[in-house]
Amino acid sequence: MKLAIVGTGYVGLVTGVCLASIGHSVVCVDVDREKVAQLQGGRVPFFEPGLDELLQEQVHAKRLSFTIHHEAAFDQAEVIIIAVGTPQGIDGLPDLRALIEVARNIGRTVNHDVIVVIKSTVPVGTNHFLSQIIAEEQCHPVSIQMASNPEFLREGSAVYDTFHGDRIVIGAAGEGVANTLEALYRPLHIPFLHTDIRSAEMIKYASNAFLATKISFINEIANLCERLGATIEDVARGMGMDQRIGEKFLRAGIGYGGSCFPKDVKALMGMAELSDYTFQILQAVERVNRMQQLRLVEKAEKRLGDLRGQRIALLGLSFKPDTDDMREAPSLAIADALLKRGAQVVGYDPVSMENARNFLPAQIELCESAEQALEGVDAAFLLTEWIEFTMPVFALLLQRMKVSVVFDGRNCLDAPALARLGIEYHPIGRGIDA
Ligand code: NAD
Repeated sequence: MKLAIVGTGYVGLVTGVCLASIGHSVVCVDVDREKVAQLQGGRVPFFEPGLDELLQEQVHAKRLSFTIHHEAAFDQAEVIIIAVGTPQGIDGLPDLRALIEVARNIGRTVNHDVIVVIKSTVPVGTNHFLSQIIAEEQCHPVSIQMASNPEFLREGSAVYDTFHGDRIVIGAAGEGVANTLEALYRPLHIPFLHTDIRSAEMIKYASNAFLATKISFINEIANLCERLGATIEDVARGMGMDQRIGEKFLRAGIGYGGSCFPKDVKALMGMAELSDYTFQILQAVERVNRMQQLRLVEKAEKRLGDLRGQRIALLGLSFKPDTDDMREAPSLAIADALLKRGAQVVGYDPVSMENARNFLPAQIELCESAEQALEGVDAAFLLTEWIEFTMPVFALLLQRMKVSVVFDGRNCLDAPALARLGIEYHPIGRGIDA
């Protein structure tokens, strides 16, 4: 099939590359000239494992190309997939300006029948709203049908997830549109769910809000484990063996972050409010998450006293490993809290240093290696479970600290190994702070 993908961010680019690799002919369009120039040169503008190779392969096979011109992308397209950003707006609901601009472009430009697929995460009712904008702008008497196709990939394993997703959700009014989109995705052999459009839009928010709830729940259990002398990993394992609960998303830590969970939780609460409904569970989920992001700061104050003038290393800055995405990373709230308490903060991340510079306050000293960041510090906070931090050799680096105290926000370090090296270890939820 001939496809146009609008937006070459984490979702649009991965989708475009993967759909090209199953035989479709894909033109990706973005308004960011620099990004498009990099892509035309065969370079992926962000860190995503496995994406570079696949992109180069598909460009070489002439199934994938990039442009800044919407008309060129839409020219032959049978399906237009929109994956532009929907960042949080000032009212807590997603900012739909990029989507509205794309809808206008589609209305003005498209001169043949087409299916428009909204892959961006959008509030319930947005497909309908965008179809009205397209209709208002429409210049040619052609059929433009809408479908909602929310995306569930995870940054860091986005290529794998696209080929091995749990489900493909299509919200479409008629069987015809759903059948075409099922055919588009069929080579992936992923279970297909056809719903009405509003339900598809809601599935995305309900899924992310549920996962965020699981995280805040296990974090509260971890906080109680510390007080009652239980061990969170054993508790989570025992819970997860119950198939009604499942073992995933039961890892206690410093809370969720990233470009999706915080904004999607807020958006769902906003949608509820607009419908005169108070989503009480999500209010608590968000409150717990904010509190949890500062757990390590609290622990450090309890152990080290006043943090004024103390030098603290933040290890791992991206919101999770295998991505350079800093959007809503817990490291941001933690850095801010430490600076407010007068601490001197140094940071290191294996891949997100460039983004970190743009997101973190200028007072934070960024180092080129973990070794450099740890030199002479009073404490280290482990914030992202990058594989390099879990290697045995990393424990040896911790000895470079002035005072060997580590606060592990991801419970990923080897406690007995640290004990053998004389390093004081403070994980989350293990009863030692009781
Ligand atoms: P992103 O910010 O990485 O990329 C968005 C891209 O859209 C940018 O390259 C931007 O230049 C481009 N863009 C903006 N306006 C445009 C326009 N008018 N025409 C063409 N391109 C335009 O965003 P993302 O992380 O890929 O997320 C995209 C959507 O997918 C969001 O709604 C997000 O909530 C959702 N989503 C994201 C993830 C994720 O893990 N990142 C997962 C599932 C769903």
